[in-house]
Amino acid sequence: MNPKKNFKKVVLITGASRGIGAATAKLCAKAGWDIVVNYTQNQEAANSLCAELKDLGAATLCVQADVGDESQILKMFSQIDSHFGALHGLVNNAGIVDMTSHVVDMSWSRLERMMRINILGSIVCAREAIKRMSTDHKGSGGSIVNLSSVAARVGAPSQYVDYAASKGAIDSFTFGLAKELATQGIRVNAVRPGIIDTDIHASGGLPNRAKDLAPMVPMQRAGTAQEVGEAILWLLSDESSYTTASVLDVTGGR
Ligand code: NAP
Repeated sequence: MNPKKNFKKVVLITGASRGIGAATAKLCAKAGWDIVVNYTQNQEAANSLCAELKDLGAATLCVQADVGDESQILKMFSQIDSHFGALHGLVNNAGIVDMTSHVVDMSWSRLERMMRINILGSIVCAREAIKRMSTDHKGSGGSIVNLSSVAARVGAPSQYVDYAASKGAIDSFTFGLAKELATQGIRVNAVRPGIIDTDIHASGGLPNRAKDLAPMVPMQRAGTAQEVGEAILWLLSDESSYTTASVLDVTGGR
């Protein structure tokens, strides 16, 4: 019997209960990946996504964990070890904005939460993934895709410069980590979405932001979560085997 006959690759997608993460999970399931669905609050959405992924043929593990808390990240990875025993992909997708504000009014607690979830969460998830995927650690290699944002380039003035700065850090982290891991079988890339129609804008107090900002996009429309997911899936897959340390803009030309 061929021991690899039923071998499927496992990907952890953080913040997969909604938006870009959920769309990516569905595309990954259709492409044959097994999936760890991480979420922080919305258990109902995560469970219903997992049921959908199972119908698409994927084995799933649904894990509640706040990526802004190291101990919860460690617990999540030990659950992955027990359930799947291997990891081949990580999508550092979980991310937050906050209410629109000028920097002059930003509190320490707001800044600390933003950096903890958007930067530290991604770095610590990558650290734990490296221990499981790196050929230097007896892993079989893998791919890490980080979610940046066009805000890293444009700065999001008078809305959320703190968020933009956190995504700038993600770009730097991607470039450095990719080079550090280039001989360890792990590729590291980022996707930089533009204005994408998801709930994230409502969480910043601007539920109509995607529609309102569409006229400033060269393609004159917001993007969809699925359009971002397609880019993530490509970077995860072996189809992008010579691509590392890259940032792929999915911005409608912005
Ligand atoms: P979204 O619709 O607001 O969904 C956010 C997801 O992240 C949810 O699944 C949420 O879980 C999860 N999450 C939030 N905080 C978390 C935490 N501390 N730990 C674990 N999970 C957490 O966001 P989105 O628009 O899909 O954005 C996904 C990524 O793309 C983010 O990194 C964002 O910065 C980036 N991005 C988005 C846009 C855009 O226009 N939408 C543009 C550029 C970049 P619950 O359901 O449990 O709350």
